[in-house]
Amino acid sequence: MNKRVLIKVSGEQLAGKQENGLDRDFMEWLSKEIKKVTSAGIEVAIVVGGGNYIRGADFAGDGIEAATAHYMGMMATVINGMGLTDVLEHNGVPTRLQTSFEVKSVAEPFIRRRALRHLDKGRVVICAAGTGRPFVTTDSASVLFALELGCDVVLKATNVDGVYDDDPAKNDQAKRFESLSFQEAIENPKIKVMDKAAIGLAMEQKLPIVVFDIRQEGNILKAAQGDGIGTKIS
Ligand code: UDP
Repeated sequence: MNKRVLIKVSGEQLAGKQENGLDRDFMEWLSKEIKKVTSAGIEVAIVVGGGNYIRGADFAGDGIEAATAHYMGMMATVINGMGLTDVLEHNGVPTRLQTSFEVKSVAEPFIRRRALRHLDKGRVVICAAGTGRPFVTTDSASVLFALELGCDVVLKATNVDGVYDDDPAKNDQAKRFESLSFQEAIENPKIKVMDKAAIGLAMEQKLPIVVFDIRQEGNILKAAQGDGIGTKIS
């Protein structure tokens, strides 16, 4: 049984059915799903992505420097974190937002011991602004925060029920992996479920990753409890 988990929620998921921005209905639903996890006594840290607004690699150019574009992407994760914090609290889940670079007026700076104290008290900690450094993604941030906060597993939320050997949306013959080694997840070029740098770091530190479908009711709790849903990379 996991004691503490880190859930990675991408910006795309927070946009729900919309092309960008935040889907309020999805956030409401997500908050209730997360409440099931904290109610079960499992501590929850969340890393939010920002791809529903800006991905640095796509946005750079035409005068916008790459580093600036990446910082803009990190700012987008702060927007998402602010929204999710409020919706969680509205649903009775005490939550604190911490950011990797200071945005003092709206969030606490990330302070490890403070984050641990929040988790101990049963509060959800949302880690926003990624790693605070450009040129990487929030997948890497997820693994780093999970390690720093002593989480047992990274739960990588997706819209499919695990890792496939090809894109299941394009290839109906695609085969789903029950489990997968870090090595294969890194080396197989068809596996694009998560940033390879993030998987590499998880491998080095022996931190398991569970890729699962967040949209099914009860799935976050199942994944958090280690119920064997999705694909485990270990
Ligand atoms: N980003 C960054 N450093 C980080 C995390 C994120 O520069 O540590 C930037 C990067 O440009 C990224 C964007 O923020 O594309 C949004 O994050 P991400 O793409 O990981 O969001 P997701 O795809 O999970 O929604």
